[in-house]
This record gives sequence, C-alpha cells and structure tokens, in this order.
Amino acid sequence: MAVPHSVAPQSVPQPAPHVAVAHAARLAHNYDPLPVTIATAQGSWVTDTSGERYLDMLAGYSALNFGHRHPALLAAVTAQLDRVCLTSRAFMHDRLEPFTEALCALTADSLALEGTSPMMVPMNTGAEAVETAVKAARKWGHERGVAEPTIIVAAGNFHGRTTTMVSLSSDPEAREGYGPYTPGFRVVPFGDAQAVADAIDESTVAVLMEPIQGEAGVVVPPPGFWASLRSVCDDAGILLIADEVQSGLGRTGTTLACDLWDVRPDLVTLGKALGGGIVPVSAVVGRADVLEVFTPGTHGSTFGGSPLACAVGLAVVDLLATGEVQERARVLGDHLQTRLDDLVTDELVAEVRGAGLWAGIDLMPGWGSGRDLCRALAEVGVLIKDTHGATVRLSPALTIDAEDLDLGVDRLRQVLESREASEEL
Ligand SMILES: *Cc1c(COP(=O)(O)O)cnc(C)c1O
Repeated sequence: MAVPHSVAPQSVPQPAPHVAVAHAARLAHNYDPLPVTIATAQGSWVTDTSGERYLDMLAGYSALNFGHRHPALLAAVTAQLDRVCLTSRAFMHDRLEPFTEALCALTADSLALEGTSPMMVPMNTGAEAVETAVKAARKWGHERGVAEPTIIVAAGNFHGRTTTMVSLSSDPEAREGYGPYTPGFRVVPFGDAQAVADAIDESTVAVLMEPIQGEAGVVVPPPGFWASLRSVCDDAGILLIADEVQSGLGRTGTTLACDLWDVRPDLVTLGKALGGGIVPVSAVVGRADVLEVFTPGTHGSTFGGSPLACAVGLAVVDLLATGEVQERARVLGDHLQTRLDDLVTDELVAEVRGAGLWAGIDLMPGWGSGRDLCRALAEVGVLIKDTHGATVRLSPALTIDAEDLDLGVDRLRQVLESREASEEL
C-alpha cells in the first residue's frame, strides 16, 4: 500500500535513545500506544518527533472537541495564568461564578427543571463527575428514606476507572481483579426500557446511562429508548442521569446528545471537552433540589472549580453558546456518516453507527483487528483508536476542515481496499 503522506520534516528536538528505554521499563503498562511520538500539535494536526504530520481523527476521545490549542482557549488560559491559577475552595475566587452561570445557561433547556433552577458541581475528571452524580443520587435517596439505594446501569457502559465505576462495569478487562466491588448497582441490557422498568423496585433511586455508548463502539440506542427511559423514571419517581462526558458539548451535533431526542435528564455529567483539551475539567449539572444534598464538608475536590479550570471551562462554554459549533458538527457529521455508509455499501466494512462527528465502525470478518487498522492508518498519517475487537471509532475535532475530514476518510478507504486487494492475491 503506497499512500503518500510525507511532509517536509521540521526540526523537532529528538529524545535521547535511553529516555525511550527507561520510559518503557518504568512506566506502568496500562496502555499500549501506537508507535507515534507526538511533539507538537495545532488544530486537527499533530507532528511527531521526526517531523511527520498526522491527522488526529480521535481528538482525545472528545477531550479535543475544539482541536489542539484553539486560539480562544489558549488566550483564556494565558490570561488566567497571569492572574491566579489555584485557590482551593477554602476561599472564593472571581472565575467560579461566571463559569457556573454560563454552564447552567448553556444546559438549562436540556435539563428536567420543573419548578427548580439548574445547579452545578465542579470536579476534574469524568470519573469524578459520575462519582459525584452517584453520591448525589444516593444521598437524595437516603433523604427519602431509602436505606440501601440502588442505581440501574447499562451493560457495555463506560463511566471511568475508579473502584466504584469499575464495579458497575460489565467489561471483564476493566473490572476483573479489582474487587471487592461497590454494591448497589443493577446492570440491564442497553436500549431496553422494559428491562429498566422491570429492574426497578423500592430501593431504586436512579438510572445512569450514556445516551450513546462511546467506549462500547459508539452504540446508538433504538429510537424512542431515551424518551421511554424518561417516562419510566417519571412513573417510578426516580432520577434519570445522563453521562455525557464523551457525548456532550457538541459532539453529536447538539449541545447534549439527549437533545437529539428532546429528552431532559435530571442530572448530566460533563467532562472531556469541558477542559478545552488543556486541563481536566468536569461537572455535574442538574436539578438544584437534587444537588442541594451537598452541604459544606459533605463533598469536594482540591482542584475542582479552580480559577484556571473555570477560565478554560468558561471559554469552552462561550464557544458553544451561539450554536455554530453544534451546527457545524451536525452538517459535517451528516457528510461523514454518508461517506462511511458508502464503505458499508461497498462491503469494505460490516457496520457503521454514529451521530454528528462521532462514528463506530465494525470491520469485515477476517479483515483483521481494529488495532491492525489503526496501525495501518497511522502509517499513512491518520490517527484513530480501536475499541474492543474489530471495532474502531472516529471522533475528529468539531473544528476539523471539511477537506481534512475527506482526506481522513479517503485514507481509511484506501487502507481498507489495500488489505482487501492483498487478500485476493
Ligand atoms: C471518558 C469517560 C469517562 C471518564 O472520564 P475520565 O476523565 O477519563 O475519568 C466517564 N464517562 C464517559 C461516558 C466517558 O466517555
């Protein structure tokens, strides 16, 4: 396969050889990265230590929704670096309120707020945001006299890597060896509202699910599923919690993925893109009458809601406030899905799923693993990530140029075709 991708090398400092060896030996082996060592990045492009350029079609699993080093986000961070970066929540600072107001305003129309106002809890990572939502739901349950609150979750979920988050995982790789597990979760099939209704009893306080399962391979539930979930939760008087850490903030062509179906959850977790690809910023937004369970001393975080985090978060919300980014993701996303559907028609891949600028692709049986495809694509200058087995996912920056998006899909097609050709020999 000869797809040209060479670009004139720039002079980038080379790491000394012994550094790479020490790196491999001393770094815990919890990742198996592709052999690409990134030195610099701008927008949708990264450059490795030998000056080779790659189109980043993963964008940090949505942490880089605005691309690498977006000028408005860099400007906000740089300005804040010159003022104050960290105070702890022991004192007040002047960035927290503007960020809170802006995030609540951005999401208010997407939340089930009947008779109450939106409220926000700032945290750092996605897992911490989901932990915060779980703690809020449990405490809310306890206050209503539920002694042992349970929460219903979906098979195939991904909510992070903490002990509680892996306790509710159905993925043996993520879960095994980390017991004893946090009790209080019930796992039902994803996309089956009747299974949720059947699993509810007097101990149930909430349903927690991703609107579209990201890590599972961009699994889109059947039409009407989230609307049914909403009414099941309303009938039972329990909370609907959407984990929008990966799906939220423009990825699906709407502010939240739940907006695709006009479904308003009681609590929403946000993360990844909220930090603008610069620092970890996460949050829970939702009904004030639920998040009011947190009183001084009952929950917190040293770094959550820091001045620097709030400056970035506010700049991210500002980028989403006009709806232009979401519209762009919708239009470019339609184009992406059309082009990927052609791969199915041409029998180059088995199945494509997605929404907005987000796609999961199942390879043809026998083509090879998702990892094989990622390696072959990296060789022609495009970076994506496999999930389980023969599935890969695309989540380019929402700011990607239309031509770059086409270039990425062209190279994907060429790699798929070249493997097919070599098999025919
Ligand atoms: C990535 C992710 C998380 C965890 O976020 P971290 O910042 O890695 O802790 C939680 N939920 C969903 C849906 C995610 O995609």
